[in-house]
Amino acid sequence: MFERARLKLTFFYLLIIMLISSIFSVMIYAGSTNELSRIERVQRIRQQEKSQGLAPSGRIFRIDPEVLEESRSRIRIALIIFNLMILGFSGAAGYFLAGRTLNPIEEMIDEQNKFISGASHELRTPLTALKTSTEVGLREKNLSSAEAKSLLRDNLEEIENLRVLTDKLLRLSQFEKLNGDLPLEVIAVSQILEEAKRRVRTLSKSRSITLDISDSKYKVRAERESLVELMVILFDNAIKYSPKGLTVKVKVEKINNDVAVKITDNGMGISKKNLEHVFERFYRGDKARSKVNANGYGLGLSIAKKIAELYGGSISVQSQEGKGSTFTVLLPNS
Ligand code: ADP
Repeated sequence: MFERARLKLTFFYLLIIMLISSIFSVMIYAGSTNELSRIERVQRIRQQEKSQGLAPSGRIFRIDPEVLEESRSRIRIALIIFNLMILGFSGAAGYFLAGRTLNPIEEMIDEQNKFISGASHELRTPLTALKTSTEVGLREKNLSSAEAKSLLRDNLEEIENLRVLTDKLLRLSQFEKLNGDLPLEVIAVSQILEEAKRRVRTLSKSRSITLDISDSKYKVRAERESLVELMVILFDNAIKYSPKGLTVKVKVEKINNDVAVKITDNGMGISKKNLEHVFERFYRGDKARSKVNANGYGLGLSIAKKIAELYGGSISVQSQEGKGSTFTVLLPNS
């Protein structure tokens, strides 16, 4: 598909260049043949004047008409060769440039296709579970009301999973659409961290994990709600992927012109193999998949990364398997 588009684009580049080159060639040819005709005319007039005795006698330098015709044909040949060279050169350059132009579009379409297949895959899992349990329930002739209730509860759980997944997909596409159009304000980082801590309270309590947030006076330029969302994703992961009873430390410091928020846990850590993929959409570590109580769709970190980038910030991770991880969010200082 892209090869055809590339050839088409090359053809259009060539068409434009050859049109310009032909117009110039015609202008050059018309100009030079006009000049030769003028020389011919002047020669003829002088010849006539001489033969009528109007011009002073003497030798008139005369160019042979054949030489003039030969000059015309040489100009024609030179222009044709010049145009053929342009055709060859711009064909090769056009093909190369068309490739360069289409490259980002090809990457974007690849990315979109991966996103669609990832989303369909994740949506299929709860849908299949829902379908199976409903079919089993329908097939059961003597379904008691307790059994029916339990089946409905299971279905409700799967529906909730679907809601969470579609919410995340929507958030991701909303942030991608924004592309830097987020209204930013100056915000105290400490307020954001406290709000995020409040939102993960239920999970941290259930896993007896303490969130230890150090005092900070720094302010950043960001959008409040999405910054809280970013911190909630990182707190949520630190809690989910740590054994019960540990402490997650949150430190805020200044690095050059940025404010760095570092979230450190002593949980299961991330293997080297997984580390380079964790910010990709739908990527989940093998251990995360198998870990009970660590629900997820592999979308959290890609949403977090997108949010940080909307403020001109970034997010990175250092981790050692079995020892823990530190996620660092760099945000431009206000
Ligand atoms: P999810 O948590 O839903 O799987 P994320 O995008 O938030 O998706 O994280 C992607 C993967 O990165 C996780 O599946 C997990 O393997 C790894 N990960 C993220 N945060 C941590 C952490 N604090 N400790 C260990 N692994 C983590």
